[in-house]
Amino acid sequence: MKIGWGFIGASTIAKEWMIDAVRAQSDQEVVAVMSSSMQRGVAYANEAGIARAYDNIDQLLADPKVDAVYISTTNELHTAQVLAAAAAGKHVLCEKPLALTTEDALSMVQACKKAAVVMGTNHHLRNSATHQAVREQIKAGVIGDVVALRIFHAVHLPENLQTWRINKPQAGGGVILDIVVHDADTVRFLLGEDPIDVMAYAQQGGMASALEDGAMTMMRMPSGALVQSHESFVVPFAGTGLEVHGTKGSIFASGVMTQQPVGEVEVVTAAGRNLLAVEPHNLYVHSLEQFSRAVSSGGQAAVTGEDGVKSLAIALAVAESAAQGVRVTVDYPAI
Ligand code: NDP
Repeated sequence: MKIGWGFIGASTIAKEWMIDAVRAQSDQEVVAVMSSSMQRGVAYANEAGIARAYDNIDQLLADPKVDAVYISTTNELHTAQVLAAAAAGKHVLCEKPLALTTEDALSMVQACKKAAVVMGTNHHLRNSATHQAVREQIKAGVIGDVVALRIFHAVHLPENLQTWRINKPQAGGGVILDIVVHDADTVRFLLGEDPIDVMAYAQQGGMASALEDGAMTMMRMPSGALVQSHESFVVPFAGTGLEVHGTKGSIFASGVMTQQPVGEVEVVTAAGRNLLAVEPHNLYVHSLEQFSRAVSSGGQAAVTGEDGVKSLAIALAVAESAAQGVRVTVDYPAI
């Protein structure tokens, strides 16, 4: 039996990554797409070779071939769509940020729990072989106690995406909900703990007028480790990466804050420099493999709904800190 996916949102991410990622699985297929415009939905479905298009979520959810939904609409729409999917008994993979408030995100997790469906958040970076290798090195104690993590995730937002992300606050645009939220999840994944509080600055670096297009953040971890991150939409040549510095060594992961299965991980200790042999794999394919295992065996998605609530709580603390000019304690809702 194949998992039939209904794609909610005729989006770029679905077109560039997720449709192919489903089609890379022998046990999954894309059966329908939903757009708010029938004309756009039909054109999108035709171009992607998807059998059916809908412009109404109830019709998509009533499609007997739809077992799970992948939600990649703009961010203000995620909550209602996840609640509807859960009520219809469909498994859910939802894009980040899950919602615009942690209360809404929590309600989505609770609805999926109540309906006994799998819920995943599509933070792709946890699915990267490079990030997994970094985490293994930290867990194995190769670099001793972690003292600091620095994340470089400042890029140039491609022209075709310079829409709601830079000019529509009500859709959950801005670099904080777009990229900081990914970095928050990366911090939690790599360090295995949740930031206590954050201090941040945000800027308008020339692309966005109604929203921030750059941010720098400091986070304090329960272990005492400090985290620093830089996100931007306006710097084409900064390169991405992360560094983890410990009492016995450092890890340098370059080119790894990306959707592509690329990048290098080098570990430096008293024993010398060690460029790890990391076998890359497609991040989104990896995520869907885990999702399928969760559906068939009752396990968890690669990144759970709970993870999505926490990454959102951190991003919202960053936004508040930047707006108020003060240190903000992250307000994690009880899950
Ligand atoms: P897009 O702007 O491509 O799509 C979002 C919505 O905008 C679509 O659902 C569609 O609405 C509408 N839309 C798209 N193109 C057009 C167009 N040409 N004309 C009119 N309307 C259009 O967004 P993204 O794909 O970049 O992002 C979607 C979601 O995915 C967001 O939540 C984002 O945060 C997340 N994302 C996650 C990534 C990851 O790696 N995890 C990477 C990129 C994005 P409709 O469906 O009604 O037609």
